[in-house]
Amino acid sequence: MANMILIVEDEEAIRDLIRINLVAAGFTCDEAEDGLQAVAKAKAQRPDLILLDWMLPGLDGLGVLRKLKADPALATVPVLMVTAKGEENDIVLGLEMGASDYVTKPFSNKVLIARIRALLRRGEEDAPEEVIRYASLTLLPGQRRATLAERELTLTCGEFDLLALLCSRPGHVYTRGQIVARTKGEDYPVTDRAVDVQIVNLRRKLGPFGERLETVRGVGYRMRG
Ligand code: CA
Repeated sequence: MANMILIVEDEEAIRDLIRINLVAAGFTCDEAEDGLQAVAKAKAQRPDLILLDWMLPGLDGLGVLRKLKADPALATVPVLMVTAKGEENDIVLGLEMGASDYVTKPFSNKVLIARIRALLRRGEEDAPEEVIRYASLTLLPGQRRATLAERELTLTCGEFDLLALLCSRPGHVYTRGQIVARTKGEDYPVTDRAVDVQIVNLRRKLGPFGERLETVRGVGYRMRG
């Protein structure tokens, strides 16, 4: 399947030229002409790579990058930033904020495509990030991050692993003993009673969503299937 590149560029002539070249090189493209449109399209389509012009009207490249990195589903999508020649501060800031690489305007088509291919290869070499999704809850075990409807949750390691265990098999009932056995380490529940305490804490942190974390009397716990 062709890799999908989201081209974020406010100047139509440049955007068209990039698109023509990328399509000719075998990529599928989508385009955004400002920062807010870029974020919306990235969320809707989860492109394989985002080519991000730094100088944009409204939400600029840095603003777009911040929003992408704050979204667990998009944080790992490589971003190739496009900066003006001589704007070294932009480059440094962008790389510090998580951009994968940069090209400076004016760039040659060959260089652009080589950089894009290199980033896509790098992405394939890295192990794909495991994502556990349950309704509006998203868990990224590699980053130990959990978000509920895009709101970041602050969980202890033990709470995180307990939630990940239950969400990885909705509807399946885990006994307290199984939970203790599967979540071992520092700060993890080590007794049946400790499991109950962590469940209480998780429900509190999940708010109304915590109703889905069900007690099965005399057996254990499950996420509603
Ligand atoms: Ca621009």
